[in-house]
Amino acid sequence: MSDIKTRCLIIGSGPAGYTAAIYTSRANIAPLMIEGYQPGGQLTTTTEVENFPGHPAGITGPQLMEDLRKQALRFGADIRPGFVKEVDFSQRPFLAKTDTGLSIEASTVIICTGASARYLGLEDEKKYSGLGVSACATCDGFFYRGKKVAVVGGGDTACEEALYLSNLAAEVYLIVRKDHLRASKVMQARVLDKNNIKVLFNTTTEGLYGEEYLEGAHLVEKVGTAEEKHYDLPVDGFFLAIGHTPNTEVFRPFIECDHTGYIKVKGETTITNIPGVFAAGDVADPMYRQAITAAGMGCKAALDVERFLAEEG
Ligand code: NDP
Repeated sequence: MSDIKTRCLIIGSGPAGYTAAIYTSRANIAPLMIEGYQPGGQLTTTTEVENFPGHPAGITGPQLMEDLRKQALRFGADIRPGFVKEVDFSQRPFLAKTDTGLSIEASTVIICTGASARYLGLEDEKKYSGLGVSACATCDGFFYRGKKVAVVGGGDTACEEALYLSNLAAEVYLIVRKDHLRASKVMQARVLDKNNIKVLFNTTTEGLYGEEYLEGAHLVEKVGTAEEKHYDLPVDGFFLAIGHTPNTEVFRPFIECDHTGYIKVKGETTITNIPGVFAAGDVADPMYRQAITAAGMGCKAALDVERFLAEEG
């Protein structure tokens, strides 16, 4: 037996979730949102957001999310704390259970659970988070104009981040654990062609240092060989680009994902393999991963839900 019935369950409260809530509320669908472990999503961990249109002076991540939340509440969205720990999408209405003990019956679902940046697992990463350590060059690169930064990773994301930063920072070091890059050939060529990007192959990070803010990284080259070398690299910014993990674990038994775990949507829509279940934001977007693109997808998901419910009569 369910405690609550809804025409649209929105799981997750990042820019995609709130935008879906605003649109579905204004369409009289009366959505229910379950916020997740990190209400407001990834943006609540960033400081200044300068690239979200409509905020000429910039806005802090937490403030932006608080504003989006207020906007959703204004139109009557039912927003509740909790984490969806179990779903049953095998039949309609869909069922979801939260860790707060709520049992939900939903005619439609929008999954907006986002993705989490992978970290190396060093204690220092937490210590300097927001003080030099970042997992998003597009968000934070601007603060490192004319400075020295390091990017960790050898995939397409790392190359893209390094290239982006090379147009802002004075010097960019790409820290790659193997003796080669995993990125596509074209990205590799672009990185290797850039004068102010230096690739440090066979190099891993042992720790970070700095008084108040990050001042550098403790690196080790050719670890475990006769040529093993430990040294310090002074940098003002340390960017992680070792991949993201989409938060799709709970949905995997029902929802089709790609080989890296991102939810597959049909073409330009937010439609998943289960009719009535939609996905928006980073959880379904390995490519762009921006707050504004997530918000755009949240809007699309709400319109897809509206259409789906209308077609059902
Ligand atoms: P990838 O998984 O492709 O690459 C991750 C990189 O991080 C690898 O070089 C890996 O090293 C390294 N790495 C992983 N763990 C660690 C660690 N603990 N310490 C040091 N290095 C580590 O992730 P991406 O985010 O780069 O890309 C994900 C997908 O998205 C890919 O399919 C990519 O092609 C795609 N993409 C496409 C873009 C585009 O087309 N424009 C842009 C961005 C991404 P190792 O090689 O040794 O395993």
